[in-house]
Amino acid sequence: MTQKTALIWFRQDLRISDNPALFHALKDGYHIIPIYVLDDENAGEWRIGGASRWWLHQSLQALNESLDHNLIFRTGKADEILPKLLEETKASAIYWNRCYEPWRIGRDINIKTDFEKHNITIKTFNASLLWEPWEVLKDDGTPYKVFTPFYRKGCLKTEPREPLETPGTIHYAEHSGDKGKLDNLELMPHISWYSKMDSFWEKGESGAHKRLQDFLENGLKGYKEDRNRPDMENVSRLSPYLHHGEISPHQVWHISKSYAVTNGIPEKDIDHFASELGWREFSYYLLYHFPNITWENLRKKFDAFPWDENRSNDLKRWEKGQTGIPIVDAGMRQLYETGWMHNRVRMIVASLLVKNLLIHWRQGEQWFWDTLVDADLASNAASWQWVAGSGADAAPYFRIFNPVTQGEKFDPNGDYVRQYVPELENFDTKYIHNPWDSPNPPANYPAPIVDLKESRERALKALESTKQNT
Ligand code: FAD
Repeated sequence: MTQKTALIWFRQDLRISDNPALFHALKDGYHIIPIYVLDDENAGEWRIGGASRWWLHQSLQALNESLDHNLIFRTGKADEILPKLLEETKASAIYWNRCYEPWRIGRDINIKTDFEKHNITIKTFNASLLWEPWEVLKDDGTPYKVFTPFYRKGCLKTEPREPLETPGTIHYAEHSGDKGKLDNLELMPHISWYSKMDSFWEKGESGAHKRLQDFLENGLKGYKEDRNRPDMENVSRLSPYLHHGEISPHQVWHISKSYAVTNGIPEKDIDHFASELGWREFSYYLLYHFPNITWENLRKKFDAFPWDENRSNDLKRWEKGQTGIPIVDAGMRQLYETGWMHNRVRMIVASLLVKNLLIHWRQGEQWFWDTLVDADLASNAASWQWVAGSGADAAPYFRIFNPVTQGEKFDPNGDYVRQYVPELENFDTKYIHNPWDSPNPPANYPAPIVDLKESRERALKALESTKQNT
């Protein structure tokens, strides 16, 4: 019997376990050729950002090791590379897991149509969402725009599938094609700003499972309340692994639920954790049904919002963590050092940018895109629009975070601020979140970028003018 060969096109599913494309190709009796294509050309303005490229390099290295160094690396347009590879390797099939970014959907449809004409077997699977966006609709057939009914009524009526078995032996197809080199993708930055990131994260699929285990043992209990505390270790930090696919949401869902049952974790904690995975689903859902959310306000009345276009210096200070507002600077510096920021602090820094500084949410979205290791088109766009008030089910614009009271509430001893803002390491706890009010303000730390009270009033006035314009 002749050997059947299939290409396995890895994308945002950089793992061996619970990988439907890999699992089914092996089950269907194929010898496989694994491939990764860095397709910046089709991605256009959403080419992978700097910090995520660094992450991707580590991830691909780990994946290649798991695949006994059989992974083929290519850079260029996938729609041009894949047909050539099929010809070179004489593969008769291609398997991949679906992605949901609009540019990827468009490209994949073209690839599929072309291959179908050439009698190539194509099989695609869901590996990264618990519920397919087109399967969850309101009774009238339209998409949900509010999270709670989407999640409770739309999603939870179907239990997500169990993770698939990890393949035992992988049969690789012999081929004479050039494997290419990971280094040729040039994902690593030329200047080494990533040294702290290196020590902060454990890489690859095994790193993802260690992270999950550590969270289950040390963070899940108490998650509902303490997930808001950047000074504590009660969140999973799984977002980059979920984004790049070193772990699947199905694995996180089922492993954490079964851990909770076995270890008597309170229901409120595990349910809340599961619902955060639900927010990830909701973001993808919105991106699928409203693909313009990456740049266009979901609520049209925000098109008339009077953003301040002349604040490039303030934007720079915000990016560099030099706003003089400690919790904001701690967050922005955590982002720069580790490629990740705590969710509560993401909301605080975003609120300062779009409300107190009146800088368009798209500017913040872009900075996050370049600096987050979990930069995700769906979650980033949906979350920025949520903070700005322009999104579906968004925080109302008039709810403006006060970074001082947020800091006092969620970082009560200032430990988080001290960790990332060394200028305030020994500063009086009483004024750690508002050093400008201290009788002895720190000499080596900037004065606040804006007056919080005045800028709040200005933001509310800006909102009023929007109302008049609609
Ligand atoms: P946990 O609390 O442990 O939650 C578990 C998982 O649930 C996360 O890994 C994540 O996949 C998902 N999740 C949790 N909260 C949210 C949320 N609000 N929205 C969507 N999914 C969520 N998340 C990204 O993954 N990529 C982004 O680019 C991104 N940009 C954001 C921008 C802004 C302005 C804001 C306010 C939030 C953004 N988020 C983004 C959402 C959220 O902050 C992160 O997912 C979360 O902080 C990741 O940390 P964690 O893994 O410890 O979360």
